[in-house]
Amino acid sequence: MAEKNIVIIGAGYAGVHAAKKLAKKYKRDESVSITLIDRHSYHTMMTELHEVAAHRVEPDAIQFDLRRLFNRTKVKLVTDNVTHVDHDKQCVTTEHGSFPYDYLILGMGGEPNDFGTPGVGEHAFTLWSWEDAVKLREHIEKTVQRAARVHDDETRRAMLTFTVCGSGFTGIEMVGELVEWKARLAKNNKLDESDITLYVIEAAPTILNMLGRKDADKAESYLVKKGVKILKSSPIVEVKSDSIILKSGGEIPTHTLIWTAGVQANSDTKDYGMSSGRAGRLKVNEFMEAEGLENVYVIGDLAYFEEEPGKPQPQIVEAAEQTGMTAAKSIIAEISGGEKEPFKGKYHGVMVSIGARYGVADLSGIHLSGWFANFVKHMVNLYYFFGIRSGYYMFQYVMHEFFHTKDKRNIFRGFPTRYGNVLWSLPLRIFVAGFWIVEGCAKLWGEETWKEATSSFSNVKNLFNGLGEDSWLLANSVKMPFEWLQATTSGASEVAAEGAEYATPILSSMWGWFQWIMEIMLPTPEVAIFMQKAMVFIELGIGLAILGGLFTWLASLASAGFLVMFTLTAMLGWDKVWALPASIALMNGSGRSIGLDYWVVPFLQKTAGDWWYGKERAIYKDFDQVAAKPHSGSKDMSA
Ligand SMILES: Cc1cc2nc3c(=O)[nH]c(=O)nc-3n(C[C@H](O)[C@H](O)[C@H](O)COP(=O)(O)OP(=O)(O)OC[C@H]3O[C@@H](n4cnc5c(N)ncnc54)[C@H](O)[C@@H]3O)c2cc1C
Repeated sequence: MAEKNIVIIGAGYAGVHAAKKLAKKYKRDESVSITLIDRHSYHTMMTELHEVAAHRVEPDAIQFDLRRLFNRTKVKLVTDNVTHVDHDKQCVTTEHGSFPYDYLILGMGGEPNDFGTPGVGEHAFTLWSWEDAVKLREHIEKTVQRAARVHDDETRRAMLTFTVCGSGFTGIEMVGELVEWKARLAKNNKLDESDITLYVIEAAPTILNMLGRKDADKAESYLVKKGVKILKSSPIVEVKSDSIILKSGGEIPTHTLIWTAGVQANSDTKDYGMSSGRAGRLKVNEFMEAEGLENVYVIGDLAYFEEEPGKPQPQIVEAAEQTGMTAAKSIIAEISGGEKEPFKGKYHGVMVSIGARYGVADLSGIHLSGWFANFVKHMVNLYYFFGIRSGYYMFQYVMHEFFHTKDKRNIFRGFPTRYGNVLWSLPLRIFVAGFWIVEGCAKLWGEETWKEATSSFSNVKNLFNGLGEDSWLLANSVKMPFEWLQATTSGASEVAAEGAEYATPILSSMWGWFQWIMEIMLPTPEVAIFMQKAMVFIELGIGLAILGGLFTWLASLASAGFLVMFTLTAMLGWDKVWALPASIALMNGSGRSIGLDYWVVPFLQKTAGDWWYGKERAIYKDFDQVAAKPHSGSKDMSA
C-alpha cells in the first residue's frame, strides 16, 4: 500500500506534463502512487481542434490515448467524470467512485464564456473539446447538404452563412480552416463556392489582439482577400436559431454561430470551495499551491497566478506545461525534501494558422507570415511530442498533417499526398524483385555460369549441375575492384576483378569520403570475402521479400540503400540506375496489395501493440488497479 497518493484531475497539457514528471521521479518508489483521472480516455490536442471541426484531419488525429502515453509508467489511469472534491476528507469523488489523496493537482482547464449573452447556450456552437469539434463538423456538413436543396433564397443564404464570434486563436484559426474547406463543401453539394459566406464578428475595434498590429493586419488582409467579412466593434447581443443580433441593431441571418469569444475556468470546480480570481480561475501562489489549502495544486488554464500585478499567466500551452512542471516539482520537494521552485513563465511567442497554408507568428520579436509561419507551427507541434515522450503520436502527426491530407490542405499543398491504388505498382514490384533475384543468382552460380545457363532455354538445365567456379559463395578471392583490397591480396583477386564485366559506372571513381567509410567497413580481404558471400543471400532475400510483398517497405528501403552504396563505390552501371527510383516507388505500401504484408503487417502491429502497451482493456476495469472505492450500482463510464 502506497504511503503517498498523488491524484491528478485532468489529462490536458498541464496534467500530462505533471504526471510524466512525477512518474519519472518516483519510477521505482513503491511508496508513491500516482492516479490520473480524466473524463476522456485520451488526451486532446486542443490546439488542433479547428482542424477536426473543418474536416482537415480526421477526429482521431487529435486524440492521444492515455494508455499509450503512460504505458510502462506507474501512472494509474481512471476514465471518469470528477463531481466533487472534499478537502477536509482529502477525497476526490467521481461519478463511479471516490479516490483518497495526499496531494491533489487540479488541471481541468477552461470552458467557453458566453458573458451571459442570451441564446448562446441554446443556439451557438463552441470549440472547446473533441466532442465540440466533431459536433460542429457534422452540423456544417449537414447544413450545407440541406441548404443545397432549399429553394427559398433567403433561407438558403442563411443556412450557408457561417459566423464566428471572437477573433482570438480559436476564432481566426477556425475561420481560416473554413476558408479552405468551403470549396470542397460547395463541390460536394453542387453549389457555387460564392454561395457560402463567412463572417468574423469581434466586439473590439481590432482583431487578433494577442499579436502586434503589423502581424494582425497581415492576417486580416489575408482573410479579407479570401472573402471573409470581418465586422469589428460589433458585439453580439443575442443569438437565435436562424440569426444573430448585433449591438448596433443589425441582424445577420445564419444557422451557425461558432462562439469563441471568451474563456473562463471549468465550472465543475465552482463548488470545490476554493478562492477564485478573474473568470473563475483558481488562485495559486508561485508554487501552484491553491490559496488557503494544503497539498492542493492548480495548474494550466484553471490556475490564476499573477505574473505581474493584474496580469495572470496566459491560457496557452506553454503556460499549462510549465505550471504542471512547477506543481510536480513542488510535490517532489514536499515528499522527498529540497527547495521548491517558484513559477517563472517562459513564453516563446504566438503562432496562428489561418488554414493549412497561411499563418502569422510572432516568435519573441521574430515576425513570420505565410507558409513559413505554419511551417514553424508544425515544428513546435512536433517538438511537443518530445515533451510527452511519444514517438508513436509524432509519427501519426506527420502522417495526418503531411501525407494523408486532402484538397491540398497541407503546407506542401498536395505534393506529398496521394490516395492511389497500390495495385498499379504490382508490375514494378515484380520487376524490381526480378532484378535482385537475377543479381543474387548470378553471384550464387557465378556470373559466367549464370550468363551461359540463361543464354538460351536449353541451357537452363546447366544450373542443376551445381555452382560454377566463379560463384561468389565458393570464391576465396576478392571480387570487388577496390584498390586497398587488391594491393594486399593475391593475383587471384586481380584476375577475378579483371574477369568481371561492368557497364559504364555512374561514377568514374569512388569519392574520397566514401572510400574512407568503405575502408573501415571492409578493412581486409577476409572481411571483404565474408561480405561478398553474405551479399548473395542479402540480394536474394531482398528480391524474394519484394516479390512476395513481405516487409516490402523495409526490403525496398534496403534495395534503395544498397543501390546508393553501389553507386558510390563506382560499381553500379548506368544500365541499373532505374532500380533506385523504382525501389523508392515501392515504399508506397505496395506489399499490401497481393502481397504477404496484407496479413503480416496488421498481425505484427497488433502483436507488438499488445506486447508494448498491454492488451486492450475495458475502461471500467481501470477501477481494479487504483485505490478507489466504487459507488454501489455504478455500471458504465464515459470514455
Ligand atoms: C481551438 C483552440 C485552439 C488553441 N490554439 C492554441 C495555440 O495555438 N497555442 C496555444 O498555446 N494555445 C492554444 N489554445 C489554448 C490551449 O489549448 C490551452 O491553453 C490548453 O489546452 C490548456 O491546457 P490545460 O491542461 O490547462 O487544459 P485542457 O487542455 O483543457 O485539459 C483539461 C482536461 O481536464 C479534463 N476535465 C475537465 N473537467 C473534468 C472533470 N470534471 N472530470 C474529469 N476530467 C475533467 C478534460 O477532459 C481535459 O482533458 C487553443 C485552445 C483552443 C480551444
